[in-house]
Amino acid sequence: MRLGIDIGGTKTAAVAIGADGELSDQVRMPTGFGAEAVVATAIRTVERMTALAGVGASAFTSIGIGIPGAVDNATGRVEHAVNLGLEGLDLGPRLADRLGVEVRIENDVKAAALGAHHLLGVADGIRVSSMAYLNLGTGLAAGVVLDGRLLRGGHGVAGEIGHIPVDPAGVRCGCGQRGCLETLASGLAIARTWPTASEHPARELFAAAEAGDARAQAVREEFLTGVASAVRLLALTVDVDTVVIGGGLAALGEPLLVGTRRILNRWADESAFIASIGLAARVQVIPFGFPAAAVGAALVGEHQWLKSSS
Ligand SMILES: [Zn+2]
Repeated sequence: MRLGIDIGGTKTAAVAIGADGELSDQVRMPTGFGAEAVVATAIRTVERMTALAGVGASAFTSIGIGIPGAVDNATGRVEHAVNLGLEGLDLGPRLADRLGVEVRIENDVKAAALGAHHLLGVADGIRVSSMAYLNLGTGLAAGVVLDGRLLRGGHGVAGEIGHIPVDPAGVRCGCGQRGCLETLASGLAIARTWPTASEHPARELFAAAEAGDARAQAVREEFLTGVASAVRLLALTVDVDTVVIGGGLAALGEPLLVGTRRILNRWADESAFIASIGLAARVQVIPFGFPAAAVGAALVGEHQWLKSSS
């Protein structure tokens, strides 16, 4: 049995995967803020999962953690996880000391890519060789799985497509550049372009656009164009068979999928080249509630720690 834990900015979720690929019940709890609180959250999560399974931590053949920030998956160190109050933390070694078993650490979006890849394999009954996970959360980032293996790049930056500038005249991004993809298609982008007191700004935006509000339709179009641009970018750079959209905004579901495909189809009408690569058919939205990052974290060990051969 493998244990996967997804440490998010506000919530931590865990799931175990049996040898047959079956998922256990999930455990969820709030994430503590700051290094010591994050370590304590991880320990409490493992304790809850071992209690649930009626086994000790050593009964898990592997324990993996997905966490935001810059992760060195060889040393288990996490840096720049601003939302968790972490500047730098040797999370892997700290947990290994406490639990007496090895704990593998991976960036949360990369872990979610492995989880989505696993889900596609289960759904299709075959091993999907190449896919990308496009995370639309507060920001925008992607994880890429090629030939069944996570693409990390030489410095762990592979897939950080949210900071590719697509509009030189665009607004300033948090990274310091102008017009990054993230400034068009992310929770931050919607917060800027559709200010509201609603707890679910994206859902409110889509509902207003659907109801015929012209301004909402324009804002939604800019957002969907950003999403479609990200799909096109992933297809043209790494030629993945499938792009699975996940993250908090994936809860928009069908309207997000239909809108993204509509824009990709329009581009195909304008370009024989884009038409020839069949972008619209490659896009999916992850099923609501599937714990992609926790599942992927459980599988991190299986996929080795190899860096890309670049
Ligand atoms: Zn940026």
